[in-house]
Amino acid sequence: MQSAWPPANYSGQLIAGRYFLYYSLGEGSFGEVYYAKDTKFEPPRPVALKLLHRSFLRDPQVCESLKREASALARFSHPHILRVLDFEINREQAYIVTEFAPNGSLAQLLKPDKTSVGKALPLEQIVYLLEQIATALDEAHGQGLIHRDIKPENILLDNANRVLLADFGLAMPLNNPQLTLNGVGSGGVWGTAEYAAPEIWDEKVGKKSDIYALGVLLFQMLTGQLPYQGTAASLMRQHMYAPVPRVGERAAWLTYPPALDEVFDRVLSKVPGNRHTSARELSQHFRHAIQAPAKAYALPPKYSFNTPNKPDISSYVNLKNEQTIKEGFKLLTLTFYITSLLLTYRSKHKHTPLTYNKRGLAYMKLELYSLARKNFDKALELNPDFAPAYRNRGILYQLQGERDNSMRDLETAVKLGDSKARLELSNLQNPI
Ligand code: ATP
Ligand code: MG
Repeated sequence: MQSAWPPANYSGQLIAGRYFLYYSLGEGSFGEVYYAKDTKFEPPRPVALKLLHRSFLRDPQVCESLKREASALARFSHPHILRVLDFEINREQAYIVTEFAPNGSLAQLLKPDKTSVGKALPLEQIVYLLEQIATALDEAHGQGLIHRDIKPENILLDNANRVLLADFGLAMPLNNPQLTLNGVGSGGVWGTAEYAAPEIWDEKVGKKSDIYALGVLLFQMLTGQLPYQGTAASLMRQHMYAPVPRVGERAAWLTYPPALDEVFDRVLSKVPGNRHTSARELSQHFRHAIQAPAKAYALPPKYSFNTPNKPDISSYVNLKNEQTIKEGFKLLTLTFYITSLLLTYRSKHKHTPLTYNKRGLAYMKLELYSLARKNFDKALELNPDFAPAYRNRGILYQLQGERDNSMRDLETAVKLGDSKARLELSNLQNPI
């Protein structure tokens, strides 16, 4: 029988006698997304197939989330919402097939490589993207759905760099009485705390929380930086209490009209009622603010979108298809090799403290705390000196209000040399 964790490499396999998997496009919390071809069509049609990790197959909450994602996407027929083509959930396999977004995600525009600092986008590109995201989000809200996970990774781009809003796995009906903090953002409190509105931490999610997240994203596109940065605990405090930063604090090179700060004062307001009533209203307010008569915009310094092996995405309007395909192909081949290497490496190292730790984190995102605990415990059983598991278990205790246990684990992680745990610990010791 196949090992449940870590996931196997399914490249080269045919799923459901129909979808041929080529290579991994990326890994999310609960599964791997593959570039695939639907061989039922002639010629075979490119698609993206998100395959749930086997270890989650027996987890009704995760399967439910996949089903919700497919069902939420299937309700839409909108030019800027990713189209779902098929899905299947059974005892052996769970997957969702969507259209393929050849130009990756907004995350890759904002941070073309892991080491680079964030990049600001040109104004006209921001306006273009914002308008499209706004129409998609308003459509979701109009249909009574909150997205709950607006972040750059979930803004995919088609071959003309048009927006395709994705990842409705956590979408919730607006009037769901059981709305809780459960799985805030697919990155949970951990991965997407950067975009989480203050009320989310109070377990009150609404469409204004999506608009807040879009405000954070807008700030990031404009300045190349997030309005708030830090650990999860520190982010939570900043979203709740810190003043909204001035655009100039994060982008000293930008000369801008004061009306622009007013946009962010409004959209990032701590009080949901003070925010824009729709994403379109935000988009219009932004456009209006940047057209306000004021000093000319200074161009961001040394922002070049030209990196080896990547198409020049700054000139998105004039993308030359042929060159893009060639460059893109080189990049994909490279990604394919690196991914295969990583997957081979991982499959030889099953059930390591690292894999248990990772699994614990995934459960934590779903607020399945006892399962998360078990996995961290298991990681520490295998390696009692594994600092990240102490840190994460410490954070878990912190979430559950067990301060003493949290301090104990974080202190152990610090003793083992874990610098992130030091930050968490100092936040715990010196709350603002
Ligand atoms: P999370 O688990 O927090 O949702 P994520 O959004 O990165 O994180 P997935 O939705 O599983 O996780 O997607 C993994 C990656 O695969 C994405 O970051 C994106 O780059 C890529 N991806 C997902 N769907 C598609 C698609 N339809 N076309 C092209 N790339 C895609
Ligand atoms: Mg996603």
